[in-house]
Amino acid sequence: MKKIVSLVLVALIAVSCVMGLASCGGSGNTDSKAEVKELHMATNAAFEPYEFYKDKKIVGIDPEMAQAICDKLGYKLVIDDMDFDAIITAVTTGKADFGMAGMTVTDERKKKVDFTDSYTTTTQVIIVNEKDNKVKSADDLETATIGVQRGTTGDVYVSDLEKAKIERFNTGPDAVLALTKGKVDAVVIDGQPAKAFVKKNKGTKILSDPFAEEDYAICLAKDSELTAEFNKALKELKKDGTLDKINAKYIKE
Ligand code: GLN
Repeated sequence: MKKIVSLVLVALIAVSCVMGLASCGGSGNTDSKAEVKELHMATNAAFEPYEFYKDKKIVGIDPEMAQAICDKLGYKLVIDDMDFDAIITAVTTGKADFGMAGMTVTDERKKKVDFTDSYTTTTQVIIVNEKDNKVKSADDLETATIGVQRGTTGDVYVSDLEKAKIERFNTGPDAVLALTKGKVDAVVIDGQPAKAFVKKNKGTKILSDPFAEEDYAICLAKDSELTAEFNKALKELKKDGTLDKINAKYIKE
């Protein structure tokens, strides 16, 4: 009887070993794929031409630049869409490896994240309704109702205006929609997205005097080793004309 029990035990052990080996072999095949490290990019895909949806895919200058950087450095790019004001927290908590969202370099943000070298210089502009005469210049903003995207530099600039009323929206298109409905007198937002919004919303226009100059860069966790790698790739992509090519693809004039 004892013999039979031990034989059964031996057989059981042998079977489980074979099964164990088989499953080891199976997962071995996927290991090589898993070795390509993924980098998560946090963005807000409502900011044409920098990031927006086209045929259910996030496209634009930032995703293409990020892809070019990841290709150069040997990473797999994964894009995570979120509210703009969630991006820096995603980066500081490690949920995302970097943030790229037409993001302006500011001293305030530098306290929380590191920035790469800049890849674009741009301006903040004012969008108004063509027929409305309330806001004719930046000075008129002082007493106006102004729409901005929450947590952006546009939000920061107008928040300094003591008498203005500020309406904060989750996305640029939401702010522009409020303008077309007469709920706000003006929207302060980045120049290129403003052009895209005005094109889509008849009866709106951009005031000719720009509001403020800014630099865009990619943000990363403080002291991230990736920052130097990104800067190296960025430098090469500027030099070989890739950045110019991508900009020209999305910015026509
Ligand atoms: N450039 C602005 C900022 O960094 C707006 C960016 C955005 O809305 N995606 O605050």
